[in-house]
Amino acid sequence: MIEMPLSSIFRFFNILCADASCPINAFTEVSDLNKLSRGLAVFVNEADPYDKVMRLETNDQQSFIDLTIFNNWTIYIDYINRESVDGEVLAWVSNNHEKIPAIVRKNNLVVFNFNPESIIHTLLNESHYIQHLPLIVRLPLHYHYIPGFIRRIVLQVLTTYSSSKNENSFPDWPSDFSVDKLRLLVRNFYYALNKQNIPRLSNNVRLVALSHDVDSAQGFKNISKIVEVERKMGVRSTFNIVPNRYAIDFNLLRKLEDEGFEIGIHGHDHSGRLPFKPAIVQQKLLKDAVKSFQSLDVRGFRSPSLFRTPYLFEALEKVFEYDSSVPDTENYTRNTSFNGVATCFPYYRGKLLEIPLSLPQDAVLLALRKNTNEMLKIWINKLDAIQTFGGMGVLNTHPEPHFTGNKKMLALYEKFILHLKEKNYQICTMIELCRYWKSHLSGQSSG
Ligand SMILES: [Zn+2]
Repeated sequence: MIEMPLSSIFRFFNILCADASCPINAFTEVSDLNKLSRGLAVFVNEADPYDKVMRLETNDQQSFIDLTIFNNWTIYIDYINRESVDGEVLAWVSNNHEKIPAIVRKNNLVVFNFNPESIIHTLLNESHYIQHLPLIVRLPLHYHYIPGFIRRIVLQVLTTYSSSKNENSFPDWPSDFSVDKLRLLVRNFYYALNKQNIPRLSNNVRLVALSHDVDSAQGFKNISKIVEVERKMGVRSTFNIVPNRYAIDFNLLRKLEDEGFEIGIHGHDHSGRLPFKPAIVQQKLLKDAVKSFQSLDVRGFRSPSLFRTPYLFEALEKVFEYDSSVPDTENYTRNTSFNGVATCFPYYRGKLLEIPLSLPQDAVLLALRKNTNEMLKIWINKLDAIQTFGGMGVLNTHPEPHFTGNKKMLALYEKFILHLKEKNYQICTMIELCRYWKSHLSGQSSG
């Protein structure tokens, strides 16, 4: 029997169950079904590598467990068993070319023909996400010499181009909760097989973290405009500052920190080159940055343009407590697949807590040419979807005049905060969300 530690599922399993007694701790290969006591099995051996995005089609004839919410869900499958398993098929994965049994029930056993934990691991570690050296990084001059409004137009053109090409890509936009759905699937089967009622997800944690990446001197000047709105609404946020790009008024930042705002680090010089340097070089540059901010309590990081490579994470882990350079889904802005980790929950990447950006950034929505009413609707709908899983909202807006530092966008931002308050969300900084997660939720891990 092969025992696999169910680290990531187990951690969330407990959270979603809201009780620590769920005893799933190993998956077993199908040849050992007879020895299985819990009733859940998964193929770990002899499965074919498979690298496709498929739809999950559920069998609506059966009454054993309600799979309705998983029907037609786009699922990424990295390994699948193609040998037939006797029993009643509860779900298939399919695309235009083939249909493979995905979940099969055999007496009191449920067999997954794929491995949920391996998929979760692949997605959270972004094993398939390739960060190409972006064009702007290859320009001979710093791309900020190109005026902001021109860069916005270029981004709009590229976005239109990539969104027309990306119909079958993964993850979906603006919502894709594949990781959270996989956890839910395993959990629901566990309860059903053990003849217990499936508990409702508790969504009493209603957290939204607000953050702002200050990209330029103009943005730094506009910090006061954002702060004004937030003070008026009685909320605090995180400002991520570029250490080597513009003059920094440390007195202002210290005052903001005293008032409950948080200061984080946003890259090195915002050229986009940092993540492509060797980890040891990045680590030195980032340590120097934190040192130059020593009068402040800097704990977190966000990478400019969300550029990220394995070397970046290697370096971040040694310098910061948390990172939020990863979107849950951002496929509409880059002509790349797998740009997003498909979860609305923080998770550990080594010692670093990764906090996914789960609400579309202002820059993304502007590039998609959404008006402010549409933007508000997208944020509110996404937040409602996040709530169905009990996850967390994380927003990034920019104080630059061509992003949120203008009258129209500031009014939208205020409206959004008002909505959060009306719906009794707790509004916090990134570090507050990080600490809350560490003390209340992630501690339940036994993985
Ligand atoms: Zn930036």
